[in-house]
Amino acid sequence: MNRRRRIYEGKAKILYEGPEPGTLVQHFKDDATAFNKKKHAIVDGKGVLNNRISEYVFERLNEIGVPTHFIRRLNMREQLIREVEIIPLEVVVRNIAAGSLSKRLGIDEGTPLPRSIIEFYYKNDELDDPLVAEEHITAFGWAGPQEIDDIMSLALRINDFLSGLFLGIGIRLVDFKMEFGRQYENDMVRIILADEISPDSCRLWDIETSDRMDKDRFRRDMGGLIEAYTEVARRLGIMIGQEQERPGGPVLVKH
Ligand code: UDP
Repeated sequence: MNRRRRIYEGKAKILYEGPEPGTLVQHFKDDATAFNKKKHAIVDGKGVLNNRISEYVFERLNEIGVPTHFIRRLNMREQLIREVEIIPLEVVVRNIAAGSLSKRLGIDEGTPLPRSIIEFYYKNDELDDPLVAEEHITAFGWAGPQEIDDIMSLALRINDFLSGLFLGIGIRLVDFKMEFGRQYENDMVRIILADEISPDSCRLWDIETSDRMDKDRFRRDMGGLIEAYTEVARRLGIMIGQEQERPGGPVLVKH
């Protein structure tokens, strides 16, 4: 039974009121959706994996001084985060052509891009998250010019760091999506990384085999989604299953 106040429910996550002002609880569901919810399935265990993988990535980013909303893990499916005002943009960084870029511009999937490319999509389900330019973002007031600059420099820093992190475990970071928010503290506002970074929001290809280790396995009916996400977690050195989802259950005793 859950008596907490639900603030927001999205496709793969729920946000609850947090234990202190300025905090929220981010809960990872097992729902997998694609093509703006036209395709939907429950994939047992996906939420647990994404909670842990996103935690790992956000902790590493916090360590190098990238401001993020992540505070700490609460349990197998939930993490404590800072409350932010979400900027209604999906910020995508691409290193290799794939997905909608390949389709839109007729570039074969797998073609390395001449440099990393940042794209902005307006977060709006009714409109299917359309691609937008900086002109639209500033004209419609979704973010200011300084905020766009901050977002772009954070996005490139995050891309460089994560490309190296994944390269070290034999995975190519093809592209990924981020969301940013405004954190208000006293009289200050700053842009911080929010949402999640997980195989749901990245394209991750095995360097040796080019095997897809991300949500394309679901989008393209390839099967093996949980196996692929588990392999990403394993290579990152994340041990799943050390704690119980249900408090009071058996506890693993380490010798
Ligand atoms: N992406 C995402 N959420 C979205 C759209 C895209 O996390 O609503 C991620 C996607 O997983 C990929 C990157 O952003 O890593 C670029 O996606 P693309 O524009 O190619 O769209 P898609 O082919 O997924 O429709």
